[in-house]
Amino acid sequence: MAIKLHNTLSNSLEEFKPIKRGHVGMYHCGPTVYDYAHIGNLRSYVFADTLRRTFEYLGSEVTQVVNITDIGHLTSDADTGDDKMVKGLKREGLPLTLNGLKKLADKYEGTFKEDLKALNIEMPQYFPRATEYLAAEMALVEALEQKGFAYSLPDGIYFDTSKLEDYGKLGGLTPIDESRSRVVGAEDQKRNPRDFVLWKLSYDDKMGFASKWGRGFPGWHIECSAMSRELLGQPFDIHTGGIEHIAIHHNNEIAQSEGAFGTTLANYWLHNEWLLNITGEKMAKSKGEILTLQNLIQKGFSPLAYRYFLLLSHYRTPTNFSWEALEAAENAYRKLKEIFAGLIRANGGIEGGYKKEFEETLENDLNTPEAIAIVWKLVKDSNVSDENKRATLLEFDKVLGLDLEHNEYEVKDIPEDVAKLMNERDKARVANDYSKADELREKIKKLGFIVEDTPSGQKISKS
Ligand code: AMP
Ligand code: ZN
Repeated sequence: MAIKLHNTLSNSLEEFKPIKRGHVGMYHCGPTVYDYAHIGNLRSYVFADTLRRTFEYLGSEVTQVVNITDIGHLTSDADTGDDKMVKGLKREGLPLTLNGLKKLADKYEGTFKEDLKALNIEMPQYFPRATEYLAAEMALVEALEQKGFAYSLPDGIYFDTSKLEDYGKLGGLTPIDESRSRVVGAEDQKRNPRDFVLWKLSYDDKMGFASKWGRGFPGWHIECSAMSRELLGQPFDIHTGGIEHIAIHHNNEIAQSEGAFGTTLANYWLHNEWLLNITGEKMAKSKGEILTLQNLIQKGFSPLAYRYFLLLSHYRTPTNFSWEALEAAENAYRKLKEIFAGLIRANGGIEGGYKKEFEETLENDLNTPEAIAIVWKLVKDSNVSDENKRATLLEFDKVLGLDLEHNEYEVKDIPEDVAKLMNERDKARVANDYSKADELREKIKKLGFIVEDTPSGQKISKS
């Protein structure tokens, strides 16, 4: 059976056919590095990683690109408001210069990658920065000019959406009320309300890059069009992002790339639903409470318990975050690791029936909640030997990425009384009972061991 994926382009489940046999090229819209990623953003990358792992598991080679937006993303996705990076510079008291920009981007690209590592996400081969692909971005704007898709306004070069016959084909855009969509300012002079900026002129000469149109920045959408083409070619196989990108960002990427070169940008468009915050709204910096992975770690949760929590929902289903739900996921994940650690380490075989069921589930638009259910069915199956369970779970973990083998709760060469205290201490950490956790650390110390808390759980060493 071949993998079926929901393609937003056709709004249907389609059998995936790669451009090149045995290879999949994927582009994932990456973070704007002006602040820490929140756990909603991270849902997008756990989804992308699960997709990559699934393809690899099924025998394909995967090339992944996650762009790093280090300029050009305005506070509103519809190209209005301040640049998010400029907002970040002001917040951190950094100079509004290209050097300041680099410092800010370095910092938050670094924290983003740390988050990916903690979530056991396989590192994409490419993390291109928008400011490193200026030549390709400018060439794309020029190509659009030559083909008659671009026009100039006092604040930049714009794309004329009325010139592209199938503009807005992704997700089926609804007609807009022109009188309400207009905004005051240079934007007001756009020929059509959905026109968007390709090159934004700088208002400050310390910022921006020289170009034939004047000092300025690439528009956010042009960055993705240029970098995906440079690194994956055009067309490439799969483009992903959160659902809010369908209407504007992804339709604009398609308009630019297909307008300039007359060929499809990407064959499959996959969109993940949102992580909702406690009040049921999209988790977003502009609204309500946002949480970072560090916030979860500070409360004693393992990052991989958050990965487990995400796998419990299908990527196309909105997921409500709550501490109770995360705690339930942490308990289940911990139990799974404990069971795994207790399985005999002998040469086991992979259970064919379970493997088939697991693969079919993933091939059905990446049904991860069902995949987790299969894991538990296997764990509880008394007809399967311990060694076969272990071998089969390890096989499944290639896709789930739960790092079952490196069990932070595992007790290798540690006396049983110490192991017991560590398990008790883990429970105290999850319950935020820090004084009990400290008390247990002291008891462990008296037995000759030092326990440390790390992002992936407790680590123990001999004192
Ligand atoms: P941004 O840095 O805002 O461009 O977002 C990076 C990625 O996170 C994009 O793919 C967004 O669609 C995605 N994203 C943002 N907020 C959420 C959320 N609450 N739930 C799931 N994905 C999100
Ligand atoms: Zn993008």
